[in-house]
Amino acid sequence: MLPITRRSFLAASGGCAGHLALAAFATPETRRLAWTPVHGRVVASEPFGRLEQVAEGVWALISTPLSGDRTTLSNGGLIAGRAGVLAIEGFNQPEGARWLAERSKELTGRWPTHVVVTHYHADHANGVQGYVAGAEHPTVHATTATRDLVRERNQPAVAERTAALRDAVALGATESTTIDLGDRRVVVRPASGHTPSDVSVEIADPQVVFCGDLLWNAMFPNYVDAVPSLLTRSARALRRAKGARYVPGHGALANETDLDRYLVMLDEIERAARDAHGRGIDAAFAGAAYQLPSGLGEWTLFNTVFFERAFAAWYKELAR
Ligand SMILES: [Zn+2]
Repeated sequence: MLPITRRSFLAASGGCAGHLALAAFATPETRRLAWTPVHGRVVASEPFGRLEQVAEGVWALISTPLSGDRTTLSNGGLIAGRAGVLAIEGFNQPEGARWLAERSKELTGRWPTHVVVTHYHADHANGVQGYVAGAEHPTVHATTATRDLVRERNQPAVAERTAALRDAVALGATESTTIDLGDRRVVVRPASGHTPSDVSVEIADPQVVFCGDLLWNAMFPNYVDAVPSLLTRSARALRRAKGARYVPGHGALANETDLDRYLVMLDEIERAARDAHGRGIDAAFAGAAYQLPSGLGEWTLFNTVFFERAFAAWYKELAR
């Protein structure tokens, strides 16, 4: 069903990611068909999330935090090559990272040899020490900014976490970094906008992009650290060829339709924030009163203050 739906949706919208009309999302039928969650083959499942195979040697851990189990809150995953396995994200608790490492061992015969932490937020970074077990000590990769922000802001500091990050290999802050897994090269691209330092992690064949929190799928993003114009720019830059798979920081595995809907939503938030700012309405008031247009479909709010945070982030930028 999905490929047909995607084609008809793209035909209706002109296929231009940046300028999709809200009208393209208008009918309930379009919504129902276009936004059927994309799933890979589930290879392991826990109350906190499920591991889905996205491609040969590529798995996404899709967290299900609304269940109340906080072992993992963010998504992440594994990319396996002949010479090593890269794990993406440190997760909320060490038990989450440990669980993913154990699945790596089962699925590939190997404990992760590399770990990338996409940004400093606790739900992506605070369990990174879970990958260290006995003789197993994968190389941790993070930007210098991310490593420093974890140290400064993620309190209370935990000695094991600090130790796991102490020897972190610095990812390029302006240039991409390539991690060689033998028969597979993983490209880590620097960006910003969700936090001062974000990265995406991707392979080219097949095209799979682990987006960190530059993409949230059907969950409204947290603007707590956002510079919204940079976030929009970074999110647009995630787009690859048709058929690419996107692992969002939160929410189900995504395709280009999901990414397009997210980009339209970011633009809609900008429009609403500029409008309220221009009319002199307080950000807290504007956020509390705000609702996303129904044409954008269902969006889960982790927290009821998330609209207010989005407006406040835009107001901060507009005041400059
Ligand atoms: Zn985040």
